[in-house]
Amino acid sequence: MAKIGINIKEGTLANEQNEKKEVIIGIDLGTTNSLVAYINTATGKAEAIKDVEGNNKLVPSIIHFGEEKQITVGNDARAFLVKEPQNTIYSVKRLMGKAFQDIAEYTSFFGYQVIDDNTESLVKIRVGEQFFTPIELSALILKQLKQRIEAALEQEVSKAVITVPAYFNDSQRQATRDAGKLAGLEVLRIVNEPTAASLAYGIGTNKEEEQTIAVYDLGGGTFDISILNISDGIFEVRSTNGDTFLGGDDFDQAILKYWIERNGWDEKEIQADKSRTQALRLHAEEAKKQLSQTDTFNASIEGDTGDFTITRSTFESLIQPLVDRTLKACKQALKDAKLSNNEIDEIVLVGGSTRVPLVKKSIENFFGKKAHDDLNPDEVVALGAAVQADILAGNNKDFLLIDVTPLSLGIETMGGLMDVIIPRNSKVPARTGRQYTTHLDGQANMKISIYQGERDLVQDNRKLGEFHLKGIPAMPAGLPKVEISFIIDADGITKVRAKELRSGIEQSIEVQPSYGLSEADMGKMLLESIQFAEQDMKARGLKEALVEGEQLILTTQRFIEKNGNLLSEEEQKGTQAHITALQEIMNVDEKDKDQIQGKIEALNEFTRPFAERLMDIAVSTAMKGKKL
Ligand code: ADP
Ligand code: MG
Repeated sequence: MAKIGINIKEGTLANEQNEKKEVIIGIDLGTTNSLVAYINTATGKAEAIKDVEGNNKLVPSIIHFGEEKQITVGNDARAFLVKEPQNTIYSVKRLMGKAFQDIAEYTSFFGYQVIDDNTESLVKIRVGEQFFTPIELSALILKQLKQRIEAALEQEVSKAVITVPAYFNDSQRQATRDAGKLAGLEVLRIVNEPTAASLAYGIGTNKEEEQTIAVYDLGGGTFDISILNISDGIFEVRSTNGDTFLGGDDFDQAILKYWIERNGWDEKEIQADKSRTQALRLHAEEAKKQLSQTDTFNASIEGDTGDFTITRSTFESLIQPLVDRTLKACKQALKDAKLSNNEIDEIVLVGGSTRVPLVKKSIENFFGKKAHDDLNPDEVVALGAAVQADILAGNNKDFLLIDVTPLSLGIETMGGLMDVIIPRNSKVPARTGRQYTTHLDGQANMKISIYQGERDLVQDNRKLGEFHLKGIPAMPAGLPKVEISFIIDADGITKVRAKELRSGIEQSIEVQPSYGLSEADMGKMLLESIQFAEQDMKARGLKEALVEGEQLILTTQRFIEKNGNLLSEEEQKGTQAHITALQEIMNVDEKDKDQIQGKIEALNEFTRPFAERLMDIAVSTAMKGKKL
């Protein structure tokens, strides 16, 4: 007998279509390989999806554009790397959220054409007569993954969690999010790869326990080490380090070089023959993978007379220097997190290259502890993304994921000063507000300019956007209460809102993604804030004195206008003389903070007795608070 489902809440009969529960997917959008995973409700476990042939879970992050503009993604695109390098795009993740100047040093790395249009805007890639952004190209990979899982589950999928490296900045995260949107996915969350990997192992599920985790990720072309702290279900990135040009590809290269020497070939000659080089490279990768299982490799290449024997111990001696480089980065990451090797509670191995026994052994030796390796290292990030997706679907409510802001966020106040609202290294999601007021009587508009950076003067920081709060009802200066709040969501996307509390008028913007801010830029900004700290402090002191002086002159003049009839001639004349003296010292070329402060004091000192006599207390309190 057939059963009929009834949805009691909605009073509807369940038909076949809504019998299937919505699935939120987890995606690892990798430099070399990408994957899609979900939580299989039957087993309750995260599972990566295979291709239609049921072979591969990994989708090589490669895109080929055919003559008829047909697009191939994944394994089938790989063959074109040799045949049509100019039409075959790989490693697009390296270009996400980057301006040309960020990658100018390593354009030779790409076999395709990266456009230098001499602007600060995002890079573009040229294929034939067409131009693509890294976002559009990443979207093609995401579309492929979406199709793959839709075919496997026989249902539509529209929501996803996508992972990114922990060091990705706002613009790179936003670019990833945009790629998802373009692929028809609603990106519910951008999650750090090391966080996802830890989640896949269920690390952090015990809310009582505070843990420190090292996530060692050696992929095809990149190496990342991340130190995470987990407490109360909150994941915090303590430090990251790595090498954006170190990975399994270098292992292949080392084997290839060894074979060239062993066979007495001329390296230049081999390199000139692109398709032979590519065949040899693929053979080297095969050898490397086999040596993760066996002690010797000696398979030949059809039609090639070379001797391709290599033992595991030879391979290990070839890659030892590369492995040592990763350990050096681990050391630095620990130092930055102010931890020693034995303070790490768990080690998680991520990336296909951690399958190499020497890599695993070295890392375990370094930390003096066994590493988690039960899950496939090349799947673990996608599996963790699926776990996070499941949490967002409401199936696992115990979690919260937290990251920190890399640079301070704030607004410009009078005198061009930076007023930090969210300090760097604050946990996100975050929400903070501060009250400001007007500096002119009847001021109807207020400009709010948003900056990112550590310097005291906004001109030295990075402008993210600006907007105007319009229509503030006419009030004396200092009376309106304008609350400016910053709301940063879990992906670091920031919404800034200004609200005049007396009238209720408000205005807000989502800060334009800070495209083109590279990691190097970020480091530079931090460094400069330290180098220029003293100079900045002086500049800030002077600006503050100037603003204070101007304000004081304004309020004093207004005070005299209003209350002149209540003051003696001596009081009026004396006040005017002090105002003039202050004005003059503020106008000299070589302005001096202490001199200005001195004149401010003198003016205050002079007016205090009669000001106190007359001062309207209510106005005086309202005048406190910073002015924009
Ligand atoms: P990414 O994170 O960069 O997208 P992956 O984590 O998928 O990359 O790692 C890809 C790298 O892992 C490639 O260099 C590949 O050759 C290597 N790899 C995969 N399986 C093995 C194995 N069994 N032994 C050694 N290296 C492997
Ligand atoms: Mg990876």
